[in-house]
Amino acid sequence: MHCPFCSAKDTKVIDSRLVSGGAQVRRRRLCNDCGERFTSFESAELLMPYLIKSDGTREPFNEQNH
Ligand SMILES: [Zn+2]
Repeated sequence: MHCPFCSAKDTKVIDSRLVSGGAQVRRRRLCNDCGERFTSFESAELLMPYLIKSDGTREPFNEQNH
């Protein structure tokens, strides 16, 4: 990912560990250009399809709704 300090395109991961009970990965990164260190978090994004009902409310898609 980009360096937030100098916007260099290449940063190096120097450490990574699981946080939030394994739901997230915390990475320590080092910028090759300016030498600044920063932390990034990685987590899974769940894209759930939603059903939009006739009254405009949404509910999570569920196979049993077919
Ligand atoms: Zn940098």
